[in-house]
Amino acid sequence: MQIHIWFIYLIYVLHIYFIMDSIVDESLFSVHSFEGEAKGNTLLILAGVHGDEYEPILAANELIDVFRKGILKGKVVIVPIANQSAFDLDSRVGSDGLDLARVCPGDEKGSITERVGYRITELIKDADYLVDMHTGGKQLDIYPLAGYMLHADENVLMKQRAMAKAFGFPVIWGTDPTPNGRTLSVARDANIPAIYLEYGGGNSIRKEVIVAYVKGCLNVATSLGIINNGSEIISPKFHVEDYTPNGGHLQVKQPSPESGLFIPCVSNGNKISKGDIWGVVKNLETGFSVNSCADDDGIVLFIRNTAFVKKGDSLGGILPLKNN
Ligand SMILES: [Zn+2]
Repeated sequence: MQIHIWFIYLIYVLHIYFIMDSIVDESLFSVHSFEGEAKGNTLLILAGVHGDEYEPILAANELIDVFRKGILKGKVVIVPIANQSAFDLDSRVGSDGLDLARVCPGDEKGSITERVGYRITELIKDADYLVDMHTGGKQLDIYPLAGYMLHADENVLMKQRAMAKAFGFPVIWGTDPTPNGRTLSVARDANIPAIYLEYGGGNSIRKEVIVAYVKGCLNVATSLGIINNGSEIISPKFHVEDYTPNGGHLQVKQPSPESGLFIPCVSNGNKISKGDIWGVVKNLETGFSVNSCADDDGIVLFIRNTAFVKKGDSLGGILPLKNN
């Protein structure tokens, strides 16, 4: 008799758990959709894939207000904060410690970030074009960059180049298409043209970053015939396509030669030659300062903006120009 009661209680608890879980799953993130009367392309705009990248989130909110006024044709889908649990923690990664940009296509029954990855994957597969907006997070300050994977399908690649140009950022960077786990790798596998954007970073908001993101998205939407709100597109200063394996992975560049405090000697967007001084790392225990030197020729693409550094941490990165 007692076993019977416990069994009923267990079923009841499981019942509550599954109901709560499905409610959580349905509210992983908010999705804002705007549809024109005429049929056309569906553009998916993502922000907040990393929870500590703020300007794209604010730009997405401004875009919601713009698209709410109406669109000509097709559909725009905006997710302003894809990674809510990471945002709530003021963190790059979710409450399960996972990076949403490494777990896609996710898992419907997995941890919070894996479930978000699964839902985001569904949205990407329903779209015709993807724009995924980022910043350098708390640790990096990035020169404005529109990137894409060097897709094997020439038609997809051509559309990605056109989207990147329409966005109007000074650097366009096509990289090795093999990395997985990203929103862009989901799009790659579904043959959906996709670009990611990087600009700025740090702990406070820079208004010019928000303005640039809003303008870029409106220009892409205009280029796809969804709206007619575009502004003049500025030609890129640098357009690099490079098949170097893992070339687009920002966190592995310019490793610090020492632990200590980093004093940068370079500025984003400037030309740099291999061997030039990138910055100085001062170890306050030993009193020694060690120079970090540029490991390539190119353009200063991003700089560490956190002073405290451990040996091996990235101090920034260079956009290589030797093949262009
Ligand atoms: Zn990011």
